[in-house]
Amino acid sequence: MIKMKKTIILAGSGHAHLEIIKYFSPQEISEHEFILISPYRQTYYSGLIPRLIAGQIETSDLTINSADFAEKKGFQFIQDSVVSVNQVENTVQLMGGKSIHFDILSMNIGGTPLLIDSEPSSYPTYLRPFDRFLPDWQQFQKNGFTKPNPAFIVVGGGAAAVEVASALRIRLEQNNQAGAIHLVSNGSRLCQSYSEEISTAIQQSLINCGIQVHLNEAVNHISENFIILSTGERKYFDSIFVVTPTAPSKIIHQKINSCLQISSCIFSAGDGTAMSDYPHLPRSGVMAVHQGQHIAQSLRRILSNQIPLHFQMKNSHLNILITGKNKARLVWGNFSIEGYLPLFLKNWIDQRYVQTFTSDKTSHRLYKKGE
Ligand SMILES: Cc1cc2nc3c(=O)[nH]c(=O)nc-3n(C[C@H](O)[C@H](O)[C@H](O)COP(=O)(O)OP(=O)(O)OC[C@H]3O[C@@H](n4cnc5c(N)ncnc54)[C@H](O)[C@@H]3O)c2cc1C
Repeated sequence: MIKMKKTIILAGSGHAHLEIIKYFSPQEISEHEFILISPYRQTYYSGLIPRLIAGQIETSDLTINSADFAEKKGFQFIQDSVVSVNQVENTVQLMGGKSIHFDILSMNIGGTPLLIDSEPSSYPTYLRPFDRFLPDWQQFQKNGFTKPNPAFIVVGGGAAAVEVASALRIRLEQNNQAGAIHLVSNGSRLCQSYSEEISTAIQQSLINCGIQVHLNEAVNHISENFIILSTGERKYFDSIFVVTPTAPSKIIHQKINSCLQISSCIFSAGDGTAMSDYPHLPRSGVMAVHQGQHIAQSLRRILSNQIPLHFQMKNSHLNILITGKNKARLVWGNFSIEGYLPLFLKNWIDQRYVQTFTSDKTSHRLYKKGE
């Protein structure tokens, strides 16, 4: 049977697409036209962002040169942003003005941050998108830790917000600085996808390391240097970090089906996606990786004229959150344990993950600093 050469476009070099790039062999890639489109040549590995904030690693340690990785495998890389998708003509429109036809498209462009109404002079730091956060963080470090007792507010109550607050505390300790850290969430407990018992334990760990946790407090407005809690109390800050969940991408409005498809030739994965069968689909790098592995298998099937597979949602994912100096909490379903061992495991997993995309990284550094 003669194989028709197809054009497969991967829009965005998020966690899911890195799995697809990894999955296909150069031989398979050479039989079709595989194109990766992303605004930057790098992808940042979010699992290591808390350690960057804690001052234990450098930006280069969590940078994956995704364009190089894809090009080495035989992808064409286009440095641009997808601004819209024409689902009738099967084309993507790029910010640079080009329009490119596809036979199969996969979208993995991350979620859209929900901005909080803010005074222009308040300069909140948004953790997402990472492409924007990383330069903001470089800038922040120049004078963000110079005050003797800085006050930080972290807005959010999920795993990422917990890790950012813990990382700031570790950083202050490392600098021999005191300082106040407030974690402000509109939820009634932290990490609501976990059991109540685990949420309580996480909250206790934060309190134990001197982080003040404010629950049931929506931050609707950020003033120049304070927020107002529902009690009327003002919380002043020197710096404020927003680590709230992102919304699905606005480029494609439809939700994905059980095969992670929007239509027979468009897949979507990661934080930028909502799934019709799972309204509370967890948004995490682990989920994006899992979805990417699934899309890769389905792509291979489609390219050999088979139908795609249904996505099998795992009952539990392994989460490991940094909760203090030299400790992390491992969560697997209702099982949870905190200590040095989970931190060691997290560091090992993170190092192994980043290494799969690089051969020249001196990744032993990930174990060294701050331990
Ligand atoms: C501090 C922090 C720590 C976290 N730690 C963990 C953790 O330990 N474990 C975990 O599972 N999850 C963690 N998360 C969550 C995780 O970061 C996200 O769920 C994950 O990054 C989602 O990945 P993604 O593949 O959807 O997209 P992203 O990783 O956000 O990548 C999106 C990509 O698309 C590109 N892009 C954006 N717009 C366009 C466009 N218009 N056209 C083309 N390309 C575009 C971007 O440049 C980027 O390359 C953490 C989050 C934070 C904030």
